[in-house]
Amino acid sequence: MKCPKCGYDGCQIISETQTKGKDYSVGKGCCGALFLQSWFGLLCGFCGEGKKTTTRNFWICHNCGHKFKA
Ligand SMILES: [Zn+2]
Repeated sequence: MKCPKCGYDGCQIISETQTKGKDYSVGKGCCGALFLQSWFGLLCGFCGEGKKTTTRNFWICHNCGHKFKA
């Protein structure tokens, strides 16, 4: 994979895990919605479910350190 920033051809894929929902409340849900600018955070706050783990894959450039979505 080539880096879109510097063109270096040697990017490595990494997985980033985010955990959401720990001690979640409606208030936090609202804050989350504001920060994420998404209704998704608000929805999670309201349903009040436990932990939610999201795994995302990113490419990382070893030349310039640029990180971009897979
Ligand atoms: Zn790069």
